[in-house]
Amino acid sequence: MDLGIRGKRAIVCAGSKGLGRGCAMALAEAGVDLILNARGADALAAAANDIAAATGVSVTPVAADITTAEGRAAVLDAAGEVDILVNNAGGPPPGMWSDWSREDFIAALDANMLAPIAMMQAVLPGMIDRGWGRVVNITSQSVRAPIATLGLSNSARMGLTGFVAGTARQVAPNGVNINNLLPGIHATDRAESLDARMAQSEGISVEEARARRSATIPARRYGSSEEFGAMCAFLCSTHAGFIVGQNILLDGGACNISV
Ligand code: NAP
Repeated sequence: MDLGIRGKRAIVCAGSKGLGRGCAMALAEAGVDLILNARGADALAAAANDIAAATGVSVTPVAADITTAEGRAAVLDAAGEVDILVNNAGGPPPGMWSDWSREDFIAALDANMLAPIAMMQAVLPGMIDRGWGRVVNITSQSVRAPIATLGLSNSARMGLTGFVAGTARQVAPNGVNINNLLPGIHATDRAESLDARMAQSEGISVEEARARRSATIPARRYGSSEEFGAMCAFLCSTHAGFIVGQNILLDGGACNISV
């Protein structure tokens, strides 16, 4: 399927690895030029080179922390006018409700709520003026089915979800579509570190931890970054103009909900 977005420009935040990289590759395969962000310059340069070599699009790497005002300014300055924004950042650490201070909450809100909101506020006016835009926010299945140990993540992502619910409907009349993609467990560095944490706490091998977590998913496996990226690219396509303010689960059936 031709996604109809060849020649458009996208910012992909936190995109040198994992789900963000999957989104970047899928957009590049659709002919979209990229401004690709992550903090670590070496992995970012390698990802940018790989994506450009595989697809022929232009990929501009911007090594910056997207959770800071300076980092966002660097990305936005390099980007100029963009048609597509993919918001993403690392997730907060797990813990107990009693573990977290005000500072911990502020850090989580900065990373997973206020940073994506600031990026949207920066690019939406141009998209509205030009009458076309797409924003995809990478959130989590925990928005639909909160995970007990991820209180910081649950809190910040719920806040972002609330902002998007209203904003998506305010900008839709201008041809701008904002949606959220909710990953369940995907085979990325983050999933591997959670497997390792479970293995250590339960005294089992990493393979056993992974097998136990896979068993909780009706599809009986982890998702892939390629599958995730394909859905992101579709949401950014010309075919997705009637999809507004949705929270789309990609979780192999793990959240058993009927609507
Ligand atoms: P990952 O494999 O660890 O990759 C994270 C990417 O984000 C890397 O490219 C990393 O590069 C970049 N990054 C992290 N913090 C950043 C920052 N402050 N500024 C700019 N770039 C940053 O993670 P993932 O599994 O793809 O997860 C992506 C998001 O989905 C996270 O918020 C995660 O909590 C959420 N999620 C993941 C899963 C899953 O199973 N994988 C499930 C639910 C939710 P640098 O470190 O070099 O900056």
